[in-house]
Amino acid sequence: MAARALARSRHWVFDMDGTLTEPVHDFALIRRALDIPAEADILQHLAALPPPRAAEGHAWLMEHEHALAVAATPAPGAVDLVRTLHAEGCRLGILTRNARALAQVTLAAIGLADCFAPEDILGRDEVTPKPSPAGLQHFAQRWAVAPAVMRMVGDHYYDLATAQAAGVPGILVNQPGDPWPGMADWQVRDCAELLRQRRALAVPVA
Ligand SMILES: [Mg+2]
Repeated sequence: MAARALARSRHWVFDMDGTLTEPVHDFALIRRALDIPAEADILQHLAALPPPRAAEGHAWLMEHEHALAVAATPAPGAVDLVRTLHAEGCRLGILTRNARALAQVTLAAIGLADCFAPEDILGRDEVTPKPSPAGLQHFAQRWAVAPAVMRMVGDHYYDLATAQAAGVPGILVNQPGDPWPGMADWQVRDCAELLRQRRALAVPVA
């Protein structure tokens, strides 16, 4: 896609962990603690367990993730970018495989709680988690816009696969090299670079 189109949007969906925050999730530790095989999807694995064990696993995960959320720190440029888009009146959403309540704790910890309406924060209990396109489809419908005018910003393969499946242009941040060739519409160093691209737009964004 044309480089100039990268930042030309008024409808932005962000992944949270590792995108707006410094990555702190230790997925190997989570798998060890919950006895989940290395190749398995953590949420799908928990969902397939018998109810008492699934509940136990989710309770452990919530406690573990709550401690991480309270201690969250912002990724480079994330606060400036989100504050700028918010001040410009852009629609902003969070699509995370974390729980909505924990996303709110995390956003408060990095000083962005007021930039996202609660109903614009979709966690693993609100929609089928990424890489399902359901979350992005929900935002497109809620905001009454075509997926192609939205942007999905993330740091993980799942974010890019979700964007591709929903027809939303995907922007990869905070990943050195080119870990998933062909998956991102654009790759930028971090949110600070994304903000520079936004500010470089010569004319107001309609
Ligand atoms: Mg992430």
